[in-house]
Amino acid sequence: MDFQDSPDEAAYRARARQWLETHAPRPDVSWKLRDEAGRLEAARAWQAVKAAAGYARVSWPVEWGGGGGTPIQQIIFSQEEARFDVPTGFFGIGLGMCIPTLLKFADPDTIQRFVPPALRGEQIWCQLFSEPAAGSDLAGLHTRAVRRANEWVINGQKVWTTGAHYCDFGLLLARTDVDVPKHAGLTMFWIDMKSPGVAVRPIHQMTGGADFNEVYLTDVVVPDEQRLGPAGGGWQVALVTLMNERLEGAKDRGPTTQEILDLTRSVPHGHGSVLDDSGFRQRLARWYVQAAGLKFTRFRTLTALSRGQTPGPEASIGKLVAASRLQELASALIECQEQYGMICDTSLAALQGALQRDYLYAPGLRIAGGTDEILKNIIAERVLGLPAEIRADKGVAFKDLPTGRRNAPTVD
Ligand SMILES: Cc1cc2nc3c(=O)[nH]c(=O)nc-3n(C[C@H](O)[C@H](O)[C@H](O)COP(=O)(O)OP(=O)(O)OC[C@H]3O[C@@H](n4cnc5c(N)ncnc54)[C@H](O)[C@@H]3O)c2cc1C
Repeated sequence: MDFQDSPDEAAYRARARQWLETHAPRPDVSWKLRDEAGRLEAARAWQAVKAAAGYARVSWPVEWGGGGGTPIQQIIFSQEEARFDVPTGFFGIGLGMCIPTLLKFADPDTIQRFVPPALRGEQIWCQLFSEPAAGSDLAGLHTRAVRRANEWVINGQKVWTTGAHYCDFGLLLARTDVDVPKHAGLTMFWIDMKSPGVAVRPIHQMTGGADFNEVYLTDVVVPDEQRLGPAGGGWQVALVTLMNERLEGAKDRGPTTQEILDLTRSVPHGHGSVLDDSGFRQRLARWYVQAAGLKFTRFRTLTALSRGQTPGPEASIGKLVAASRLQELASALIECQEQYGMICDTSLAALQGALQRDYLYAPGLRIAGGTDEILKNIIAERVLGLPAEIRADKGVAFKDLPTGRRNAPTVD
């Protein structure tokens, strides 16, 4: 691994920084202080500016509206963009997970229809995978898609669907065959979220927001052209989405080391500041080491990408460490401010209330895209080669599983 920019990469970085200096919006009031509709509007506007210049997805082909660059250039642009107060959050699931799945499994017309508007921020996608009884055990899901001539009729319920309330389209994983083992009876579809029979109900969170939803599907009719991959091949399609989800989740989050130093230096403690406290300095050293480990693990992924290889299970290590580090860091930095740590008002709190938001958001990050326990299982089995968990449902038809019985075959 070579961690230094090559001359070409350094030149690209300089160009990207120059472009950002010129084009990144500098609003009087941070977009973070707006309500969701205002943040979404700001995010769409910034996405459109990037798309016009080929920066919306640097590594995607120009004919789709991408930049025609390399994966490394994509990362360099993201690193430079992170220095600016610009809104990027609403497109992570669509551009980071759903569209890459379309690119691999959809026909050229579908790709041409959906990729450019998604890049411009005009259409947003969501992931309709999890259900009340299928999260870690995603392959155990119950939503049924029943074939009727050249279309499918879908009934069931999804949950925790981030952004379903503002999304235009979604990737939906459904059960199409109950007579085969659970992984073999799934099929992936894309659906229009405005289709008759799709009902979205918000789930209110302790952050005060309602980022995710329950989605009820009642006799939703989906043409067979909206199937991605073969009928019964949905699990292989879902794995592509999930791998991309873990890459997204492995990003280093929370305050930078410099922000931590500035904050703790400014908080009085004893005869000095929190930064003078030896116990706190030890924790600081550990967070620094974790951040460096995350960075270098990500570089390993980048090295694989730049060689045209598919990243391996190291993305699971990154997400596992990044999520628990964020939770501990936010908690410690709120606590060290004593009573001032209680202030959530973004115009008064340190770092515009980012610590309080991180503190409330981090537990969700430890669950989304694979819980800590599931990621540890993946690392144990696929990285360390330890014996696999006992799987009593292996090879058993879904309808013969204790949880599958209520899904006994229906008359098509
Ligand atoms: C912020 C957030 C956003 C999300 N967004 C989306 C979205 O957009 N679309 C979507 O489809 N889903 C989304 N999800 C759902 C997410 O994928 C699931 O919550 C996650 O997969 C866990 O599933 P579950 O909640 O059903 O928990 P369960 O699977 O029921 O797990 C409960 C507990 O049991 C443990 N456990 C389960 N199986 C094992 C095992 N084999 N070994 C050891 N321990 C085990 C888990 O680690 C966990 O602690 C989101 C979740 C969150 C928190």
